[in-house]
Amino acid sequence: MAIALFFGGHWFLSLFSQTFFLHRYSAHQMFTMSRFWERFFHIFTFISQGSSYLNARAYAVLHRLHHKYSDEEGDPHSPINSGNVFNMMWNTAKVYANLKNERIPVEPSMLKNIPDWKILEKIGDLWVTRVLWGIGYFIFYLVFSPSYWFFLLLPVHFLMGPIHGAIVNWCGHKYGYRNFKELKDESKNTIPFDFLTLGELFQNNHHRFPNRSNFAYRRFEIDPVYFIIRIFNKLSILKLKK
Ligand SMILES: [Zn+2]
Ligand SMILES: [Zn+2]
Repeated sequence: MAIALFFGGHWFLSLFSQTFFLHRYSAHQMFTMSRFWERFFHIFTFISQGSSYLNARAYAVLHRLHHKYSDEEGDPHSPINSGNVFNMMWNTAKVYANLKNERIPVEPSMLKNIPDWKILEKIGDLWVTRVLWGIGYFIFYLVFSPSYWFFLLLPVHFLMGPIHGAIVNWCGHKYGYRNFKELKDESKNTIPFDFLTLGELFQNNHHRFPNRSNFAYRRFEIDPVYFIIRIFNKLSILKLKK
């Protein structure tokens, strides 16, 4: 039970940070936040992603490149241009590392309005930080796991952020239906009630309307994080753009 809660908690909180803070806020600026709330969710992302924390700047630029070159040459993670999912993950990791370490030139327009908190990014990226998170997960399993078989789940904890990215980037441009067939890329909506990846698998809708905070489009589609955004908007935690 404790393991199920821990696994589910880590899966969904890490995913929430990715879709809410890194994707919808850092990369797309679908809403604005005060400095306090921006920092709050930056720390929340650091804690929830833990050992696989993703740098907000590198994530935002990587993702903006994905929209610009969707499924064409220059797309950092297109399943169409990669032979298999591991190849795609490897290529993504290379571009991500180059962006994170500022080894490749980036157009200034790609860098607009990205949360900037160098010290937190630095701490989150240190090997010692990542290893300490990993040891923390390991100790939790040591204390609460009813059988050693559950330890097989540990690699998922270690690589949570990139695993979510791989599921969304691979499935979201490969499997599912298209509401907007006119789009030149291969984006798909994989599941109509996307509770598994909290709305991220509405890739076809999202590529059609990249700045729309609701990833669901048709009446039967549900994007759970949009409801949370609406609540945050009511509570003045963020301000939705018109
Ligand atoms: Zn996409
Ligand atoms: Zn996007």
